[in-house]
Amino acid sequence: MDTIERSLIVFKPDAVQRGIVGEILSRFEKTGLKIVGAKMLQPSYDHYFHHYEKIGKMISRRGQKAFDVTLSMMNEGPVIAFVLEGVEAIALIRKMVGVTEPKSALPGTIRGDYSHMSFGHADLNEVGIPNILHASGDKEEAAQEIAHWFSETELFTYTTAHEKFTQTKK
Ligand code: ADP
Repeated sequence: MDTIERSLIVFKPDAVQRGIVGEILSRFEKTGLKIVGAKMLQPSYDHYFHHYEKIGKMISRRGQKAFDVTLSMMNEGPVIAFVLEGVEAIALIRKMVGVTEPKSALPGTIRGDYSHMSFGHADLNEVGIPNILHASGDKEEAAQEIAHWFSETELFTYTTAHEKFTQTKK
């Protein structure tokens, strides 16, 4: 089992427009996670369809309505995508991000600390839930998402100061 993993995180339009990307990114950096890819972009409908439905199977999990409102929310502006690398990084990042619904996300998690909204409110008002960022759910999803958002030449290999402590080899 390879314990060094890569995960995709995408700062959604709400995070970019609120100007809190740097502050949140520093949470990840402080844990020792390594930035191996970074870019700002405003993806097309097709790009998001591939991300949320082809890879994320969102329509079957959450329904067509939730999918539609999420896509219009994501179209509200540019996003900033990162690939982060580290020891069992995928689960670690999801733990730091917190659960999907801000109302249920625990204090101390990114969604719990930086967002507030419920599924009930989103459904009633037919809006997407602005919950700061996307993070890959598991290894398979991470591999597909990274390949979808980044080309090989946009991903980098280098050594961080943290690796002396986190990536000791047998
Ligand atoms: P997560 O982002 O936690 O992995 P999902 O993949 O299930 O969650 O959903 C993708 C995104 O779609 C969520 O982060 C949220 O912004 C939005 N979303 C999910 N369900 C709903 C819903 N019922 N109403 C509005 N927006 C939703």
